[in-house]
Amino acid sequence: MYENVHIDLGNRSYDIIIGVDLLTQSGALIEPLLQRKKVAIITDETVAGLHLNTLLDGLASLGIEAVTLTLPVGEATKSWANIQRSVEWLLAEKIERDDLLIAFGGGVVGDLTGFAAAILRRGIRFVQIPTSLLAQVDSSVGGKTGINSRYGKNLVGAFYQPQLVMADVSILDTLTRRDYLAGYGEVAKYALLGDIKFWEWLEENAEAAADGDIERRIYAVKRSCEMKAEIVARDEQERGDRALLNLGHTFCHALEAATGYSGRLLHGEGVSIGCLLAFEVSQRLGYCAQEAPSRVRAHFQSMGMKCDLSEIPGNLPDVDGLLSLMGQDKKVRAGVIGFIMARGLGEAFLTWDIDLSILRSVLREQLEAR
Ligand code: NAD
Repeated sequence: MYENVHIDLGNRSYDIIIGVDLLTQSGALIEPLLQRKKVAIITDETVAGLHLNTLLDGLASLGIEAVTLTLPVGEATKSWANIQRSVEWLLAEKIERDDLLIAFGGGVVGDLTGFAAAILRRGIRFVQIPTSLLAQVDSSVGGKTGINSRYGKNLVGAFYQPQLVMADVSILDTLTRRDYLAGYGEVAKYALLGDIKFWEWLEENAEAAADGDIERRIYAVKRSCEMKAEIVARDEQERGDRALLNLGHTFCHALEAATGYSGRLLHGEGVSIGCLLAFEVSQRLGYCAQEAPSRVRAHFQSMGMKCDLSEIPGNLPDVDGLLSLMGQDKKVRAGVIGFIMARGLGEAFLTWDIDLSILRSVLREQLEAR
């Protein structure tokens, strides 16, 4: 069972293969890309413990030799220290300009490995094998790679496209429910920003996909990748339409900064809270009907996702503190914050002109409910 999504970027185009048992077939899928039968793999400790042997066996079945670097788990891995470690390890392993690097893990491994590929010997080819739902529907698609700095997340990096993405949905069985739902926050975001039919499909099918239904999972990943691909193809370097992919993210980034990028709030949880805030504010501003935020909330609650600021454990800054963190967003031009608002489900748009007093009152109400 396979689906294919083609990312159309001229001579940097590539395919996303979505299916089951792709690790077992990795040798056959990757061999056509190789100049010699050797690859380097970067992964994390959890993914290595659960799935590395299956990948190595798949590669070995076609005589492909692999060397592996296993990094610690977590956001802190996206650091200067680990990019240096990875690049120097690749050099020590004599990985050549024409060799292939494989990113095997969630978004952390994908972002770091993609950046290592971009800078090693001025750029070597790489393949993404995303293993978290978030990585399958978001971070492995679109070519953003990078690491964090002490000044903030993802501040150092490159736009660098892979040769191939292999999204094996059977591998998602070993994700915790919390990590699965965090990734699902991004899936729901795609529907909310631009596809009411997909939203309706999710209302009917997302629960079964979360419980392991393979066909539904493949469809949810495929439709998400298609939506991101369409937007990225229109706007690879994020100068226009690509901003819509940030529905909920201005709020999310402020909340992630406020919680110290810790386990208190996963990125995808911030996205679901942020999407709902965007709909609440849109409704108060008269852009959309009351039914829209209510319907988003009902679905998120039925999935067991986070909906409000009150569900974030520990202290949060006050309204001014949150607004000041939003002022660090990449959608700030000359001090004005651009917000993604919605005219309804599936109808997001970017505006530079929102009444901040309405935003303030929505945030204040949620903070007071804590
Ligand atoms: P992650 O890589 O930390 O993975 C989450 C957790 O799931 C980790 O503990 C990991 O070990 C574990 N895991 C991964 N696959 C597993 C599996 N199959 N079974 C069991 N456990 C598994 O985080 P993430 O949520 O995948 O990605 C978040 C990162 O992605 C952030 O750094 C974010 O900045 C980045 N991101 C990048 C883009 C982009 O466009 N490049 C987009 C969105 C997010």
